[in-house]
Amino acid sequence: MDNNSISQAFADVAVLMQVKGENVFKVRAHSKASDVIKSLPYPITDIVDNSEKLSALSGFGDAIVDKTQELVRTGRLGLLDRLLEELPDGILELVQIPGIGPKTAVTAATELGISNFEQLEASIESGEFQNLPRISKKGAAQILRHTKLRVEQGNRIGLGPATQMASDVIVELKSRCGTIVDIEVAGSVRRSSELIGNVDLVCSAMNDEFQDIIDSFTTLSNVRDVIAHNPSMAVFADAKGFRFSLMMVTPEAFDASLVYATGSIAHVTRLEALASERGMTLSSSGLPYPSESLSKDIQTERNIYERLGLNFIPAQMREDSGEIELAEKQDFANILTESDIRGDLHAHTNWSDGRYTMEEMVAVAQKREWEYLAITDHSPSATVANGLSPDMLIAHNTAVRELSISSGIRLLTGTEMDIRPDGSLDYSDELLAGLDIVIASIHSGMDQDIASMTQRVIDAMENPHVDVICHLTARLLGKRSPVEIDIASVLEAAVRTGTVMEINASPDRLDLKAEHIRMGVDMGVIFAVNTDAHRTWQFDNMRFGVSTAIRGWVESDRVINTLHYAELMTFLALPKSERYAFNKSRGH
Ligand SMILES: [Zn+2]
Ligand SMILES: [Zn+2]
Repeated sequence: MDNNSISQAFADVAVLMQVKGENVFKVRAHSKASDVIKSLPYPITDIVDNSEKLSALSGFGDAIVDKTQELVRTGRLGLLDRLLEELPDGILELVQIPGIGPKTAVTAATELGISNFEQLEASIESGEFQNLPRISKKGAAQILRHTKLRVEQGNRIGLGPATQMASDVIVELKSRCGTIVDIEVAGSVRRSSELIGNVDLVCSAMNDEFQDIIDSFTTLSNVRDVIAHNPSMAVFADAKGFRFSLMMVTPEAFDASLVYATGSIAHVTRLEALASERGMTLSSSGLPYPSESLSKDIQTERNIYERLGLNFIPAQMREDSGEIELAEKQDFANILTESDIRGDLHAHTNWSDGRYTMEEMVAVAQKREWEYLAITDHSPSATVANGLSPDMLIAHNTAVRELSISSGIRLLTGTEMDIRPDGSLDYSDELLAGLDIVIASIHSGMDQDIASMTQRVIDAMENPHVDVICHLTARLLGKRSPVEIDIASVLEAAVRTGTVMEINASPDRLDLKAEHIRMGVDMGVIFAVNTDAHRTWQFDNMRFGVSTAIRGWVESDRVINTLHYAELMTFLALPKSERYAFNKSRGH
C-alpha cells in the first residue's frame, strides 16, 4: 500500500467518526495521522515493522501505530470497515460537497436514500432535498452547483494525484524489470489536463522482453482487476476503478508511440491527415515513407513533427485548438518553461496557515536555486487561516527582512490579503504601501451573484497597492465549483489597472485555468505563476502551474516571476499604470 491510500484510509476514518459524533480528539488524531503520512518523504511501508520509528512520527500514539501496521499488513482497517457498515452508504461522498455537513449527510442518506452524487443532483432538482432540516433554498442551489461539478467529473481524478500515481507505477515497474529501455507517461497526464480519466504509459524494450514486463505490470501492488491483456499491451484498474494502461513498443518506435499516445484524438487525427498528404503513414510504430525502414535517428518526436512540416509542439498544447496551424508558421521557443521561473510570489508559513517555519520554507526554496521568494501570509479576515493582525504583519515584515539578509535567497515582504465581500481590503493603504508585494484573493463570501463578485474583484484591482490577483475563481478541483464571475471583464480590468493575474500552480486549484489564461494572453494580460505553498514540498507544484500556463499558450516574457530580482523590484516600484508598458519592453 502506498502512502496516499494509507493516508486516505485515516482521513475516511476521521470523517466517519465525526459523522457518528465521536470524541473530537479521536477524530483529530486520525486526521492528523492522515496528514503526517501524506507528507512523508518516504514510503511508510519502509518503517512499518519498526514500532519505535512509527511512534516517533508526530501524533503517532499506540492506537495509530497499531492501525498503520494493520493496514499495511492486511490491506484493510477493521475500524474503517465497521464504521462503513454502521453508517448508510454514500456518507464519504456526500460530505465532500461544500454545504453538506455530517448531519445533513446522514439524514440525506437515511431519509432520502441518497448514496451518490447523481442521486443527490436528482433529489435537489426534484425539490425533495430542500425539505430536509437546515437546508435553505439558496443553500440548496449552491449544493446543486457543486454536485453537478462532481457528476460531470465522473471517475476522473485531479492532475496532481494522477501524476503521482503514474510516477509510482513507473518506479515500481522499473524496479521489477531491468530490461525496460524507456518508459514515459503519455495521454492526458502528459498534456497536463486538469482532470484525468486514466494513466497511459508507453514503454520500450526488446521484443522478447514484452511478456515479462506485461506480466509485471498486471501484478503491480495497486492492481485490482486486469481488464485487458495481450502480448503488447495491458490495462488494469486499481481499487477505486481508476485505469492504467501500458503499451509496449520497441526502442525505435518509442517516440512515434509517444506522439501517438500523447496528443488528443483530434490532434493525432490532424497529424495523420498531414502525413497522408505527404504520402506517409503515421502510426504508433513510426512515420515511415512507404519504402523506408525505420531508423532511430529520424524518429524523435521533434523530427516526426518536422517531417510533417511542423515545428515541435509542446505536449501540453497538443489539443487541436489552433496549435497545428501555428506550428506551420512559427516555433514555440518563447513558450514558458519551468527553467524560466526565477522565484515564487505566493507562499505561506506557520505565521498563518502554513505548516512550516519561515526558515524551513526559505531553505527549501533556496535549494531550488530560485533568486527570490515572497512570503505572503494571510490577512485578518482569513480567520480560519490564522490571518495576521496589523501589528503581526509589521513583525512579520521584520522577520522576512532579517531572514533575507541571512539566507542566500532574496525574500519579498508581502501578504495574501482577503478581498472582503464588499470589495474593501483587509489592511490600510499605509500598511500595504510598506510591503514589497501585495497579492489579493477571495476566501469568503463565495456565493455572491456574478455582478457583485466581478465588481468586488475589480474594486480590489483599482487599489494602487494590489499587485496580483490570486486564484481568481477560488475553485477547488473536484471539491468546490468556481465562483460566478465575469472572467473577460476582470481580465480587461487587469490590463487597464496594471494588475497581474496569478496562475495558481496548486494541482487542487489550477486557477486561472488554461482557457481563461489563453483569453488573457489574447488580451495582453501579464501573469505570475505561483505555488501557494503551505508545505515545503509544495514548491514542486510549480511544474503544474507552468504546464497550465503552457496549455494557455503563455510566453515567458508575459510572466513577472521570470524576471531577475532587480528587474522584478523595478517592475513593482513602478506605478501600476506603467507596469504593462514596462513589461512590453522586455526582450525575448
Ligand atoms: Zn488563497
Ligand atoms: Zn495562498
